[in-house]
Amino acid sequence: MKNTLNWTTPIQYIKGIGPFKASLLKKMGIETVEDALFYLPFRYEDRTTIHKISDPLPVNEMVTLCGEVRGVRNRITPRKYLKILEVVLADPTCGSGDSKTGKTGVIACKWFNQPFLEKVFKPGQTVMVTGKVSKNSYEHFRLEIAPASFEIISPEEDGEPEVGRGKIVPIYHETPGMSSKNFRTLIKSLLETDLLSEREKLPPNLLHQYGFPSFASALKEVHFPSTRENLSQLLEGKSIFHQRLVFEDFFFLEMGLALRKNKHKKENKGFSFTLNGGMEEKLLRALSFQLTPAQKRVLNEIKEDMKRPFPMNRLLQGDVGSGKTVVALMAMLIAVENGFQACLMVPTELLAEQHYFNLTSLLAPFHISVGLLSQGMKKKEQAEVLKEIAEGKTRLVIGTHSLIQEKVAFKNLGLAVVDEQHKFGVMQRMELKKKGESPELLIMTATPIPRTLALTVYGDLDLSVLDELPPGRKPVETRLYYERQRTSVYSFMESEIKKGRQAYFVFPLIEESQKVDLHAAVTMHQTLQNEVFPSLKIGLLHGKMKGDEKEKVMRQFKEREIQILVSTTVIEVGIDISNASLMVVEHAERFGLAQLHQLRGRVGRGSDPSYCFLIANYPMSEDAKRRLKAMVSSTDGFKLAEEDLAIRGPGEFFGTRQSGLPELRVASLLRDGRMLETARREAIGLLEKDPLLHHPDHAGLKEILLRRWLDKLDLLSTG
Ligand code: ADP
Ligand code: MG
Repeated sequence: MKNTLNWTTPIQYIKGIGPFKASLLKKMGIETVEDALFYLPFRYEDRTTIHKISDPLPVNEMVTLCGEVRGVRNRITPRKYLKILEVVLADPTCGSGDSKTGKTGVIACKWFNQPFLEKVFKPGQTVMVTGKVSKNSYEHFRLEIAPASFEIISPEEDGEPEVGRGKIVPIYHETPGMSSKNFRTLIKSLLETDLLSEREKLPPNLLHQYGFPSFASALKEVHFPSTRENLSQLLEGKSIFHQRLVFEDFFFLEMGLALRKNKHKKENKGFSFTLNGGMEEKLLRALSFQLTPAQKRVLNEIKEDMKRPFPMNRLLQGDVGSGKTVVALMAMLIAVENGFQACLMVPTELLAEQHYFNLTSLLAPFHISVGLLSQGMKKKEQAEVLKEIAEGKTRLVIGTHSLIQEKVAFKNLGLAVVDEQHKFGVMQRMELKKKGESPELLIMTATPIPRTLALTVYGDLDLSVLDELPPGRKPVETRLYYERQRTSVYSFMESEIKKGRQAYFVFPLIEESQKVDLHAAVTMHQTLQNEVFPSLKIGLLHGKMKGDEKEKVMRQFKEREIQILVSTTVIEVGIDISNASLMVVEHAERFGLAQLHQLRGRVGRGSDPSYCFLIANYPMSEDAKRRLKAMVSSTDGFKLAEEDLAIRGPGEFFGTRQSGLPELRVASLLRDGRMLETARREAIGLLEKDPLLHHPDHAGLKEILLRRWLDKLDLLSTG
């Protein structure tokens, strides 16, 4: 096995695995030798001291005992709600073992509500258990133990030798058919091959600078710690051994990202735009407000990019309502002024329409033809728009996903803007870019991204942040209500409407329960109109309505003919109606945190006080409670994004799973944010000195990068 084994060998060929276990492992994401070696324990047990049962055992502490099974029985407590499995263990030297007399050398192990374990234990087996010792509640002289883990030492299961006795023992997440012990045996056997010694890929100076252990010893220590000294650090994943592996993880990622960015700059010859400022000034005069300092700063960053001879690749991040649209519009005008077309892609038709109407009226004095491309359009109308885009008559194009359809062709697209980027995938962004000959790309997101994520998922983009809201905005007052308090929500709503304000009522709508969800919104519309507020006009808006119907309702709401708008999440992003002061979110427990924050961003757009009421229903998960609590206590998008990351974990956050990046093996964006910054700095520094990794010390790095980023991009092809 030794000679043929390498990092990519399928796990099936490892001794003791075979096709069946391999299929179980595959479900856990373990397919190769490398995958298995990076499957790290989630905790450890200190079995360096194995007590005899007759030792004076410390009550209320964790101990490890080893003994012989003398009896097994399942029983139910008198009140019949607890099933207890009791296994009597005895020191092998202890005669017949009679726990009733309080004789030492015998102890009862108790498992609660796991009756299936009865089949696992048989008299005569030698078993090791680790758990907390306590006194029997009736007979205090008798001790018992509640095992946190156990292991059958003999007779051996599957003939696998026991590798944990007298050691710090790694505990792995199990799957039926692969016990923690199975993992231990597998990984131990892999660690003993000579694979590890060849696997040092970090340059020696970095190892030296940070005092990192070698790869081999880091991986060995993380799986099988040699001493108990750093056990607490190991448990938290913060030992120097973990740190080395974490650094490496981030370092390879950041190297790849930096190479991709360099390559992009080198290979894409863009157009150098000239800035004569004519249209910009004209637009500034047309606006009813002054740009905020943040808007000015970001606009300058964008202009610098546009002047350069390679295309912009920039992420503009700014909380809801921070005024991204006008910044994007300025950039689009620069492109138009230089004789190019520009486009703006948004996630919903409603938003596309809103942008279209706002821009056409704002740009009326500019004599620039603006086009709208939407799915709901009539065939003939659409054909006309497509023709004008292809001929270059239409200079500014606004649309949804419809912009990336094959039949859309621009004459000369100079700038593509993607609004609400998190609603699109990476592929869609790429598709849009292909509509021009290396156009400038500006992508915008309203949901703030924690710095750690911005450095990874969007690490190959330049980043601009609008960290300031236009003046005079008041934070939206957010309150949590339960179903039974509904009437007070109504009376508050009534008083807001009496003041001349308007309100939203938003319902969740998800694919799986579409019919029911839609029904809830429609029913609420009727109830509000017929029973609660018969004298008001209540509108209804949802995705199943035709384009012109939606348009009509939105227009009526904008012109205040409608006071209350009942809607599904179609209004989630972008919609900008500043007279609306109250947002009621029904079934708030079903929404994600980012989504709630977006929804809340629909109000608080003027200078009057505004409110967001979250109506929650039971049952509610713990995560849902955390989300609602976060919403009530903060309106800061960045704080909420961090909290969201903490609740959901980075994998789920913004669908980063499909971000097209190699996965992190050991590092956690949550736990290891600091190390990420260090790794990024080192990666960029190294590439400045040796951009194509020619130095012999970097040969290993090059090899790893090519493997990890294999399908992602041929990063080093120019080398
Ligand atoms: P978002 O960043 O969420 O897309 P918008 O671009 O929709 O925000 O802007 C929100 C509102 O703020 C709009 O009504 C816009 O006209 C207004 N706005 C933008 N910039 C300013 C500013 N500097 N001063 C005052 N209002 C502004
Ligand atoms: Mg917007």
